[in-house]
Amino acid sequence: MIDLKDLEYPELCDFIESLGEKKFHAKQIFSWLSKGIEDFDEMTDISKELREKLKEKSHISKLKVRKKLVSQIDKTTKYLFGLEDGNYIESVVMYYNHGITICVSSQVGCLMGCRFCASTIGGKVRNLTSSEILNQIIFAEKDLGERISNIVIMGIGEPLDNFENIVKFLHNVNNPNGLNIGYRHISLSTCGIVPKIYELAKQNLPITLSVSLHAPNNKIRDSIMPINSKYKIEELIPACKDYIKATNRRISFEYALISGINDSFENADELSKLLSKMLCHVNLIPVNNIEERDYKSGNKQQIHAFCKRLIKNGINATVRRELGRDINASCGQLRRKNEKG
Ligand code: SAH
Repeated sequence: MIDLKDLEYPELCDFIESLGEKKFHAKQIFSWLSKGIEDFDEMTDISKELREKLKEKSHISKLKVRKKLVSQIDKTTKYLFGLEDGNYIESVVMYYNHGITICVSSQVGCLMGCRFCASTIGGKVRNLTSSEILNQIIFAEKDLGERISNIVIMGIGEPLDNFENIVKFLHNVNNPNGLNIGYRHISLSTCGIVPKIYELAKQNLPITLSVSLHAPNNKIRDSIMPINSKYKIEELIPACKDYIKATNRRISFEYALISGINDSFENADELSKLLSKMLCHVNLIPVNNIEERDYKSGNKQQIHAFCKRLIKNGINATVRRELGRDINASCGQLRRKNEKG
């Protein structure tokens, strides 16, 4: 059975034609699917005959909301979704002045092994299909009754380790017949899989690239991010520069401040040198303490002092606003708790 939402729009057109029907029905079907209908009989503007043909050869994939937490402070909403094979993923919806942003997962678990991250502790189970990535947005929009305007691919998983499905997802989520979310409203975050950054730059998708840097040199990065033993900072930075050149987009560097590891003024100065003259922005995040690890974030003053130091050195930097503090909103933690029972 074909998962209809897993077809790219042109593939859906071909599929409809293969059923002996006119291509233009793809537009209606794609639009219904994006609205989150769960039954073919809800497609009221297509013939019963076509609906029966669809039922025979295809199905509409679903997510089950297993848990939903809403912050009393800022309305941040976190979903634990059950997939059809019994696995779990998380998505988080955040309310900003400029619109509603969703943070989506790209894999069940993660292979990358970053020492401070909860999503990677049980390893990678599997890639998400493009339809499972899309469904997180479709289901949140339907549940909240609101339009989501921005997407960050920053939930569980490493998106560039699931490249093909991510690109397919990006094409579908951008399609005007469906969710119609502009590429400029989408960010993809990677731990730095260098060859895939070059490949992404060639896709002609003007999305924002976020790179989880978290360290100003190889010594520190090696100690917290295993990917750095494969792709050193000397390879990562040129890949980022290539991305900027190809897309003309500013890169965002994520930097989680971990007390005593990467948060000294010396670290800030070294980071400034590394990023000098690049079209970029540094996003400082106080590291989230996770039960399984003993990394601690510094206090607010230290974080702001680090930020000021970068700015003084001519680097664009901000401290990320913390949302959903009362619901443990950072990704990976709910799935872990759920699996541990
Ligand atoms: N694999 C991708 C995207 C998922 S992680 C990546 O590495 O970018 C999303 C972001 O959360 C990354 O910047 C990651 O480094 C960061 N992160 C993970 N665990 C964290 C923690 N405990 N505290 C703060 N940030 C964390």
